[in-house]
Amino acid sequence: MKLQEYHAKTLLARAGLPVPEWAVASSPGEARLQAETFLARGAGKVVIKAQVLVGGRGKAGGVKLAASGAEAERVAGAILGMDIKGIVVRRVLVAPAAEIEREIYLAAVLDRTERKILLMGSAEGGVEIETLAEERPDAIVRIHAHPHLGLLDWQARKLAFALGLGDHLKAAVAIAQGLQRVMVENDADLVEVNPLALVRETGPDGTPVLTLQCLDAKVTIDDSALSRHPGLEAMRDLDEEDPIDIEARRLGLSFIRLEGSIGCMVNGAGLAMTTMDLVKRAGGSPANFLDIGGGARSEKVANAMRLILAEPSVKAILVNIFGGIARGDEVARGLVEARSQQTRDVPMVVRIVGTNADLAAGILADAGGGIRTAQSLDEAVEMAVAIARSAEA
Ligand code: GDP
Ligand code: MN
Repeated sequence: MKLQEYHAKTLLARAGLPVPEWAVASSPGEARLQAETFLARGAGKVVIKAQVLVGGRGKAGGVKLAASGAEAERVAGAILGMDIKGIVVRRVLVAPAAEIEREIYLAAVLDRTERKILLMGSAEGGVEIETLAEERPDAIVRIHAHPHLGLLDWQARKLAFALGLGDHLKAAVAIAQGLQRVMVENDADLVEVNPLALVRETGPDGTPVLTLQCLDAKVTIDDSALSRHPGLEAMRDLDEEDPIDIEARRLGLSFIRLEGSIGCMVNGAGLAMTTMDLVKRAGGSPANFLDIGGGARSEKVANAMRLILAEPSVKAILVNIFGGIARGDEVARGLVEARSQQTRDVPMVVRIVGTNADLAAGILADAGGGIRTAQSLDEAVEMAVAIARSAEA
């Protein structure tokens, strides 16, 4: 689950990292009031930033500066409602604008191969890290945190020096270690600050000082860990999620939409993957990944069928059930029930083996029309692919 910038910044600030204060507005008038507050407190300008879960907002025109309340209102009015890479902006973040001396990239990511948290940094912030990784891979500094002890002091110092932050060692070390902690404490996959900026400010005695600040933040939480973090679950932005994904989660189904034409209903993640592979091998393409789970009852089967059929490109449905805890007759009853409610006539190929497979066969035979049964998985896959192909022709 990706967090909006203002939520990500909440996690960073909570961990003690330096984040400029901010407010969130959903109307131009609200943005104006917030801007006026920051300007009255001494900010020279404010920055107005689109809150959408896509990168490159700056380039797309979703990050703008304003010098007065009126300008902030105008700029916010232009950004709110803007379409950035297919997502409509519903909220903006308003913050005192930083005077940037230098932009740095710093992130904690999960290195699955090493099974460690990897701190990645580049002295050249502001640019997209993917571009940098391709064009100038040696410009990226990489340090793995210790799996139990976290990012050790010497590691953080090494990272800071490599990023040219030797003059800001203490602050840089605290930030790097903070990112690692935010990662662990929230079960995140990614905690990215781009830019981490050296910001010009005026010291208490009127002299200019440079401070390090997290001007942008991107955090992705491991979906499988969300049950441990109800506070993070509450940060979910339903506006930006696919309605099908929301419905699947509500129904407790593991469902991932794909591009193909064959809807797949399978119990067990491994069997679901295998089924998709076989569909591909037979020359078809799966419309979804769906694991209805062990012990699925007929109601769950009917719900799953509704999700599959919500996709208009589905031309055939392949049901592959290995009855263990899930009973074949329960699944078959669910299929028949779903079939009776179905508004669209999509042919269904069913292969059920294992517990109560014989009862299942009887139920499906009595149901008649539209449900075809297969003895083997290969046969079922071939039938489904052939049906989809002729429907597409
Ligand atoms: P992104 O494009 O979605 O990554 O959004 P960012 O928050 O990173 O902003 C993009 C760019 O806008 C940054 O790289 C900065 O150059 C600039 N920017 C962001 N915040 C400020 C700010 O407070 N002051 C100034 N002067 N520029 C900013
Ligand atoms: Mn950024």
